[in-house]
Amino acid sequence: MLGRSKVRHQDAGELARGYSPFIRLLEIAGILTFFGLLIALVVQLAPGASRWPTIALAALALGYFAADFISGMVHWAADTWGRVDTPLLGKAVLRPFREHHVDPLAITRHDFIETNGNNCLVSIGPMAATLFLPQGEELPYHFFFSALLTSSAAWVLGTNQFHKWAHLPTPPRWIALLQRWRLILPVEHHALHHQAPYNSHYCITAGWLNRPLQAIHFFPLMELLITWATGALPRRDDIGEQAAIEAAPKLEEEAKPLPFPPLP
Ligand SMILES: [Zn+2]
Ligand SMILES: [Zn+2]
Repeated sequence: MLGRSKVRHQDAGELARGYSPFIRLLEIAGILTFFGLLIALVVQLAPGASRWPTIALAALALGYFAADFISGMVHWAADTWGRVDTPLLGKAVLRPFREHHVDPLAITRHDFIETNGNNCLVSIGPMAATLFLPQGEELPYHFFFSALLTSSAAWVLGTNQFHKWAHLPTPPRWIALLQRWRLILPVEHHALHHQAPYNSHYCITAGWLNRPLQAIHFFPLMELLITWATGALPRRDDIGEQAAIEAAPKLEEEAKPLPFPPLP
C-alpha cells in the first residue's frame, strides 16, 4: 500500500472554487434534460411493459448491476485519466472526483444539483439515442434493450446519492438499514476506495461488482492497456507524479522460469 505522505493532492480550496456558475448552469440543464428524457422513455416503454412484464422486471433488476458497473467505469476513468484544467470536461466532470479524494466530506455538503448534475450529464447522450430505437409488438429485444438502458440511467442517477449517503457521519435509520443489507453502497465497503492510492473499489451504486472485477484484475489490466497505447501515467493528476509512478500497475518484473531447461 502506498504511503499517504507520498500522495500530492491538489489544493482543496482551489478545487472547490472550480465549481463555477457556468458549470452549475450546465448541471441544471443536464438534470432537466435527464428528467425530460426519462419521462419520454417511460411513456414510450409503458405499452411494452404491460405486454412483457417479466422482461420489464428483468431489465429493472439487471439495470442495477449495469449501473454498478457503469459507476465503476466512469469513476475509474475520471479518477485515473485526464486533467482538471482540460476545457469543459476537466471542470464539469473531473474536478468533483479530484475534490472528493482531498475532501471526502465535501459531497455531504453538496445540494441535489451539485451531487447529481454530472451523473445526469453522462447519461443524456445514451438516453437520447435510445429514444430513436423503434418499439412495437414484434420487437421484444428492442423493448428489453431500451428498458435496460432506461433502468440503468435511473439507477445511475441514484448512484451519487448512494455515494453521498456512504459519507454521511450519521445517516437516517432507513438509509443505514439499506447500507447494512448491502442493497446500496455500504460505508465500510466504500471506505476501502478512500485509501491511497485510490485504485480499487470504484463501483459505487451498491459495490456488488467490486470483488469480481478485482478478482480478474479488470482495472489494472485496462490501465496497462491504455498506458501501452498512449503512454499516459494513471492517476498523475490526482496523486502527483511520484506517487502515480509507484502506484501504476506493472507487468511481472521477472519472467517466469521456463518449464524446461533451454536448449544449449
Ligand atoms: Zn475515487
Ligand atoms: Zn467516496
